Amino acid sequence: MPDAASLPPGPHVDAESFAEFLRTLRRFVDEVLIPREQELESTEVIPAEVVEQMRELGLYGLSIHPDYGGLGLSTTQEILVHEVLSEAAQGFRYAYSSNVGIGSRGLALDGTDEQKAFWLPRLAAGELIACFCVTEPDAGSDVASLKTRAVPSTGPGGEPGWRLTGTKRFITNADVAGLYTILARTDPQESGARGISAFLVPRNTEGLRIGKPESKLGQRGGNICDVILDDAWVPASALLGGEPGKGFVTAMRTLDSGRLGVAANCLGQMRRAIDEAARFALERRQFGQPVAEFQLVQALLADSETDWMATRSLVLDAARNSDAGQNVQRMAACAKYFASEALGRVADRCLQVLGGAGYLADYPLERIFRDARVARIYEGTRQIMQLVIARQLLKDYS
Ligand SMILES: Cc1cc2nc3c(=O)[nH]c(=O)nc-3n(C[C@H](O)[C@H](O)[C@H](O)COP(=O)(O)OP(=O)(O)OC[C@H]3O[C@@H](n4cnc5c(N)ncnc54)[C@H](O)[C@@H]3O)c2cc1C
Repeated sequence: MPDAASLPPGPHVDAESFAEFLRTLRRFVDEVLIPREQELESTEVIPAEVVEQMRELGLYGLSIHPDYGGLGLSTTQEILVHEVLSEAAQGFRYAYSSNVGIGSRGLALDGTDEQKAFWLPRLAAGELIACFCVTEPDAGSDVASLKTRAVPSTGPGGEPGWRLTGTKRFITNADVAGLYTILARTDPQESGARGISAFLVPRNTEGLRIGKPESKLGQRGGNICDVILDDAWVPASALLGGEPGKGFVTAMRTLDSGRLGVAANCLGQMRRAIDEAARFALERRQFGQPVAEFQLVQALLADSETDWMATRSLVLDAARNSDAGQNVQRMAACAKYFASEALGRVADRCLQVLGGAGYLADYPLERIFRDARVARIYEGTRQIMQLVIARQLLKDYS
């Protein structure tokens, strides 16, 4: 259990209160989430009472400023929270994580005062779910090539606004969201990043449709779907920040902070995988002794623990720099890159420790192995992380 002396105070939550919060979350993970993992895997639905408990714990507003009803945790505090919660099946995170991360971040960073005052308290309270719609069928890593367009157009009462047309793909929580931040091209003359804007589109907008949930490898409990916009009209006040042409920068800033969150999720998954493997190795006997006594099995555990410790140092260092007001684009990319690769290695080694049992759905390692894979893909693939890191590094030398 963490004691306050070892924990960072945030601007809004002191170290003592934060230590108590982490202890509460630890109990929530051990007593509520982990016992219901098998149920989540088979039903693919987060139980309503679990969602309600998450609301009561304040999980929807972890990152949102207290002025808007959130907890306003520092980045370091948020990382430590994600780490604990990610020890349970990743599917549970779908309930609140988009409100904490990519769904609210762009709004908090670049929204107008009116936009923030209208949306953020609802997101912090978990009254509605937010999602962030960048990816398209023909625009994944190459965000600047997106084709969804927004054209100026008056609404039914003659008021100024925009009409949006296009398809967004793989959108987390699109099926349950109430607010969609949509990236669209507002300047048809500008084919790159400068012609892109972000719009805050409510669920009940005429012309907005949601595709059917995709069947995916892991992270059961949350869905990704297409978001289809067919001449969907929104008022001028829906333009994020009130100024066109800023959407690409907002998206990149949103993803920079989201990447530290992904890295923290990797940490929690690694910890759980190591715990499961170590416990199993001490109990399982072969050749007359626990398999934990074989040095080749110990090597699997030692390499995993080392990966976990190295990742933790990297992620917390990036978080502290972020809290100190530094630009952490490169560090966040390094952290996400290293953490997601390390998680892949750890999940693979820990599954190996369980032998055949590791391959069975009755044991958590099988799920952890599947849940882990996407960390190397979403919020910037491994290759895109390498490009971001190298580009930033080379800038220092040119
Ligand atoms: C579970 C899940 C949830 C998601 N949630 C969201 C969401 O909420 N909102 C959202 O907008 N998107 C979301 N995505 C989409 C995700 O961000 C994209 O899948 C990701 O950015 C990669 O894009 P892509 O799939 O089109 O792959 P592509 O960009 O087509 O890449 C294919 C391959 O080419 C490589 N590649 C591409 N460009 C380069 C390059 N320049 N140099 C070297 N290699 C390159 C990639 O690394 C990859 O290996 C989600 C995806 C998943 C699987």
